[in-house]
Order: sequence, then structure tokens, then C-alpha cells
Amino acid sequence: MIKINKLAPPQIIIDNQEQWTKGLNEAITLYGAYDKIPPEEKKSLLVHYRHDDIKQALFASSFNKCAFCECKPGESGNIEVEHFAPKSIYPDLTFDWDNLLPSCRKCNEAKSDFDTITEPIVDPSKTDPERLFTYNYLRICPINNCPQEQAAKNTIDVCNLNSSRLYDVRAKLIKSLTEYTDELKEKLDSIAEADTPRKQKIRITKLRNSLEKIDQLLEDSSVYTGYCRWFMSQCCEYMQAKRLILENEQIDV
Ligand SMILES: [Zn+2]
Repeated sequence: MIKINKLAPPQIIIDNQEQWTKGLNEAITLYGAYDKIPPEEKKSLLVHYRHDDIKQALFASSFNKCAFCECKPGESGNIEVEHFAPKSIYPDLTFDWDNLLPSCRKCNEAKSDFDTITEPIVDPSKTDPERLFTYNYLRICPINNCPQEQAAKNTIDVCNLNSSRLYDVRAKLIKSLTEYTDELKEKLDSIAEADTPRKQKIRITKLRNSLEKIDQLLEDSSVYTGYCRWFMSQCCEYMQAKRLILENEQIDV
């Protein structure tokens, strides 16, 4: 998980939030409860939160990634508008931009109507998850004594972030990131062995190219950025390569 910087609310939600919420609340009053609204009527009252303008702005905020597991469900057609506080318990927040997050179907279904107000989980649009979570091989876990440790634990349980689906993904990432690390090590060794300044310069350029390839995986727009950043933060070859490039940039200046 990484921080999501939500775009400004789309005009359609600013213009209609009050009216849409009023319609939903009137139906709740009429039928006695949210769950008692007839399915077809409920569907037509709720359809607005999936308006194209809302989806576009929301999904763009996370580069089309799930806010919780960081998969890119757009590729399999399953990105959804998720209500952080469930609309069945907090209907007033159904069309509240602050309460909407992009989610994959797996995380959305796992979270279901869990009450995040009485038992908080981490909202990645409000808190930076990288200050709260770390990893232990394939597992995501809360950082010991971090500010919202219980909320971090709840998030992992509620969104099922230690599932076999995500273990598979992380196992594949370990393999490819380890191969990138091997490449860095090879290039660092060859720089150390360079016997002329010219050879050294050429080899440093090659190292820079390898680093750029890795750094692309650590950008917010890439999939599973949180995991890749954690992995590389533990990798001494990556740190060493970064330092070497930085030192050479300073020399070039
Ligand atoms: Zn997800």
C-alpha cells in the first residue's frame, strides 16, 4: 500500500451529492431501513456513484490501481468504486468524495460492509501507509509500535492482504527484483575492476541504465510499489549503486 493523492472532486458530485443523498435517505425512511429498499429501486438510487466522471477521477488518483493491494484490476476489468465507510451503515457518505476509494473486486468483497468507523482501518488517501506497514518475506505486517498499529492490523485482516493470491505476486516479485539486484552487483563489480577512467565512465552509464529500470518499478504508477520499495530499501547493492551515481553526478557538475 502507498499513499493515494486524490484528485479534486468531479463537478458532477459537487452539483448532485446533496440531491442524490436526499433521494437515498427518503427511500430509507419510506421502507424503514437501507436493507429494505427494493433491489431495483436501490440500484437506481445508487447508480450515481459509478458515474463515469467519478470513476475516471477516482481511478486516475491511484493510477488505476487498487488502493489496498496495489494490483491493477483495470487490466482484468474489475476496478470498482469502494466506500471506505460502508454505504449500508453510513448512507449519508454514499456520494461523499472523501469516502470513495478505487478497489479491486477481491479487496472490495473481502472488506464488504466492515464498519471502518467503529473499528478503523487505514485509509490510504488520508494516511501514508508506508509509515505503518513493512514486509516479512511474503507477508505484509504493521511496523512495531507505529502510530496506528491496530488499524494497520485490521487492514491486513479485513482486506485479506496476506492471501495466497498476493503471496504468489510477491514471490514473483522477489524473483525478478533479485535478478535486477544481481545485475546491479555485476555492474558494480565491473566498475571496481575498470582500469581506465574511460572504461569506468562507460560502466557507470550502464549502471545508471540498470538503476533507471529499477526506479521505474518504484514509481507510484507501477503495480505493487509498496512491496518493491520495501524490497529495494533492504538491498545493499541498490543503495550502493544509488550512492555511486549520486557521487558521480556531483563530480560531473
Ligand atoms: Zn485489491
